[in-house]
Amino acid sequence: MNNKALVLVVEDDETICNFISAILTSNGYGIVKVSKGNDALSAAASHCPDVILLDLGLPDIDGTDVLKILRQWTGIPVIVVSARSHEREKVEALDLGADDYITKPFGTAELLARVRAALRRGQKDAGHLEPGEMSVGDLEINYEKRLIKLAGKVIHFTPIEYKIVVLLSRYAGKVLTHDFIVKEIWGPYTNEVQALRVNMANIRRKLEENPAEPKYIVTELGVGYKMAEEV
Ligand code: CA
Repeated sequence: MNNKALVLVVEDDETICNFISAILTSNGYGIVKVSKGNDALSAAASHCPDVILLDLGLPDIDGTDVLKILRQWTGIPVIVVSARSHEREKVEALDLGADDYITKPFGTAELLARVRAALRRGQKDAGHLEPGEMSVGDLEINYEKRLIKLAGKVIHFTPIEYKIVVLLSRYAGKVLTHDFIVKEIWGPYTNEVQALRVNMANIRRKLEENPAEPKYIVTELGVGYKMAEEV
């Protein structure tokens, strides 16, 4: 099993929310469900989803406002899901930075195709195209399949741990500051340095033979972390 792509489902209609969730979970996606705009913003920061399915008509703040705020700090692919079929709203959402638009009612195949396309775009935007994999020592990362192996054995990470490892691997050999990592993973409106430490401890338990003397991800004291280019 690989590290599941995580979809944040923002939808206040319980029936539709359950419909979407059932399709996604049965197709191997991890999901987080919220029914309010404010909860969507905090969940986007805390769960770091790979794709957001965003209903426009929400009970607290409008979906377009959620989108505006999201786009101030993240390029996470957003698929707007709405009953509104007016061309104007579709264009507005796309202008605000939505990646795609799906109109209710929609079918399983259409939903899955759009989520897959958004995931591919997200990987491209994050510079996750070249190369499709990297390796250092016994560690192998396949970005396309979201697989991380150590000595041929698949390692399971939480979505946030996975993102941290991938981020570091994309900059292997370069020291990334705590601030940089936190902003990339959780966004600028949080101060998750402690969460980063906790996640790093867990990553090392999974990745390092001796977590106290890590060889793949080294600590730059008081500065940040660096993934080794060779071990
Ligand atoms: Ca709604």
